[in-house]
Amino acid sequence: MRKHIVAGNWKMNKTLDESKALASELVALVKKEVNTDTEIVACPTMVNLAGVSDALKGSPVHAGAQNCHQEESGAFTGECSAAMVKATGATHVILGHSERREFFKETNEELAQKVKMALKEGLTPIFCCGETLDQREAGIHFDHVKKQLTESLFSLSEADFKKVVIAYEPIWAIGTGKTASSDQAQEMHSVLRKHIEGKYGAQVADDTSLLYGGSCKPGNAKELFACPDVDGGLIGGASLKARDFVDIILSF
Ligand code: PEP
Repeated sequence: MRKHIVAGNWKMNKTLDESKALASELVALVKKEVNTDTEIVACPTMVNLAGVSDALKGSPVHAGAQNCHQEESGAFTGECSAAMVKATGATHVILGHSERREFFKETNEELAQKVKMALKEGLTPIFCCGETLDQREAGIHFDHVKKQLTESLFSLSEADFKKVVIAYEPIWAIGTGKTASSDQAQEMHSVLRKHIEGKYGAQVADDTSLLYGGSCKPGNAKELFACPDVDGGLIGGASLKARDFVDIILSF
């Protein structure tokens, strides 16, 4: 059975003290109110990852990074390796977020290397994919997102692929307040599951957690999470408020 997962992407928000305070508030609410085996992940900015990891230690909330480099080490000023992420106590890493693809020009090929490096270090990659509004309106959104999976994930062995979580995030819905309708989310998720089935077979496809991301909030999470192929969410803005994030976690 595939896991339900809710991950918060804090992006470039919050100082160290603010991040630790949010982590503590989140842990307190989760311990009090969340009584399910939904996997919960909080992903602060890199410089705050060790502090947040410490604040989450011994709690049901995991820490994750928002990126890592594809090389093991070396002259890559300003970058952070998967081993460094792992050493903070983090267990997950978001890879291929649309903001990384757009502003830092990450390509499918580079992301294939990042995914492999993350897996080598024992991190769970949360691999992001999604289309622009232009691509959707041109009717090429399914092909575009399938290609992102093919080029970044389908060279993995079956054993490695099974460790990857996929987040479908239509770019037009990220931070815009425009959510994909539950029909649109379900449609894409079922296309992706079929695509995975074509490569790795029905059992692996059925076991893969597919998260939805894009203006998901307490008011719409229930409807999105009720879709048979939506296994949770990658949450941006609403993850910065512990109350909202926990209400989303409670929406299954
Ligand atoms: C995200 O950036 O991963 C995201 C889903 O953002 P938001 O929830 O703010 O749209």
